[in-house]
Amino acid sequence: MTSQVETYEFQAESRQLLQLVVHSIYSNKDIFLRELISNASDALDKLRLESLRDGDLDVDTSDLHIALEPDRERRTLTVRDNGIGMSRDEVVGLIGTIAKSGTAEFVRKLKEAKEAQEAKDGGAASAALIGNFGVGFYSSFMVADKVTLVTRRAGEDTGTRWESDGEGTYTLEALGDVPQGTSVTLHLKDEDTEDQLWDYTQEHRIRDIVRHHSDFIPWPVRLTPERT
Ligand code: ADP
Ligand code: MG
Repeated sequence: MTSQVETYEFQAESRQLLQLVVHSIYSNKDIFLRELISNASDALDKLRLESLRDGDLDVDTSDLHIALEPDRERRTLTVRDNGIGMSRDEVVGLIGTIAKSGTAEFVRKLKEAKEAQEAKDGGAASAALIGNFGVGFYSSFMVADKVTLVTRRAGEDTGTRWESDGEGTYTLEALGDVPQGTSVTLHLKDEDTEDQLWDYTQEHRIRDIVRHHSDFIPWPVRLTPERT
């Protein structure tokens, strides 16, 4: 398949929101993983539902799970699921656009939360806001300076690769030979390596965060040994 990389601009509102998310919620970056695992879990729920509803959908639902794949050498962490996946249009609509009606309210509340956080609450309020307003995926950019998402929707042949540095633009590319489901690869920021606490390629760090923030996920979450 000949594939072409096309560059798109985030909507102005998305860009503004991304900036706020990245720069406002500095005290508890760990929650990015909760957001990605929760999206993966939703995608597994959706695949199971769709396979029950549509008997013709040709998908394997025997081993639905979430995989966490740290790679120490490449400084990446990949969150992978074999759930419903996204079509190209869904990627553009769901990931590239977040100008929902609540955006203005979100921005206002995030500013309030930031002020409260500076006063005393340690970031809990702003952390709680992420997710409530559907900017969960964007929290990836708190810890990553580049995010690569590869996905193929159940029942479709062509996959899509989305990539962005979270600044102004993202790229899209059609891909063949993509496993069904979604993988999100975080290219971790360098600043995070200096402090051991921020090293999201360490198995024990990942395990702690999952235990703390994603304890009630009803699907298997598998941690592959870190590659070094
Ligand atoms: P929310 O989960 O609150 O809708 P997110 O920013 O976390 O907001 O995700 C936006 C949307 O992108 C999701 O609603 C979902 O449709 C899609 N999405 C994100 N991650 C995945 C995934 N792993 N598999 C399928 N769809 C996904
Ligand atoms: Mg989400």
